[in-house]
Amino acid sequence: LKRELQHNEKVDAVSQLAASVTHEVKNPLTTVKGFLQILHEKDYLSDKDKSYLRLSIDELERAESIIQNYLSLSKPQKDPYGIVDISSVLQNLIKLLATYQQNIQLVTAVEPDLTVKGIKHEVQQVLLNIIKNGMEAMRDHPGQLYIKAMRRDSDVVITIKDQGKGIAKNDLKRIGEPYFTTKKNGTGLGMSVSFEIVKRMGGRITVHSELGYGTIFTIELPLTNL
Ligand code: ADP
Ligand code: MG
Repeated sequence: LKRELQHNEKVDAVSQLAASVTHEVKNPLTTVKGFLQILHEKDYLSDKDKSYLRLSIDELERAESIIQNYLSLSKPQKDPYGIVDISSVLQNLIKLLATYQQNIQLVTAVEPDLTVKGIKHEVQQVLLNIIKNGMEAMRDHPGQLYIKAMRRDSDVVITIKDQGKGIAKNDLKRIGEPYFTTKKNGTGLGMSVSFEIVKRMGGRITVHSELGYGTIFTIELPLTNL
């Protein structure tokens, strides 16, 4: 028992250190991204220069998302749970994505006032991880991305459906396994972190996929009354 305790304390110290390091690395990344974005808007830049800046910004965003996912993985959030309005979180994400994405058609249906108990940035992270996977799956399979959220009995049901390349049967079993990725630059963190967060919130995520046709992620979370 004693050894176990010591071991846990060590793990705790390490993950706290990891959390504070990642936290501090985030700030300079955000600053650099901001300045690159300002540069990117200058008209005197050639298309080639603009494309270099775009790539740099994209890569910084990738680094930010990796750090954010590690942060969630390394340390269970201390933030107290509050009431999160899933409808407005989704609407904001959808607005953001609509300006960003060209070759994907967004189809959305989000009921208003769907509230759950949780931490807002964690809920955002789950939705963004799953939506981004859907978009990435459609990179060479242009199509529609459906984002729906509705009340069903005492749950909120969020469906994110893509018409991307789908998931092979053997890979389907491994979704959510930490570090499982089939992408060249993937981290395999997005889904495991999302499963963890949703589980902690008392909900669940299910996946249906058909190779060559697309994938449906369903997130169910217990509704809370305002
Ligand atoms: P990453 O996106 O960094 O690879 P994730 O944890 O987000 O890590 O996803 C793990 C793996 O699950 C992906 O590499 C991919 O193989 C598969 N996957 C997840 N979502 C989808 C999707 N919508 N369509 C196809 N494959 C998916
Ligand atoms: Mg991902």
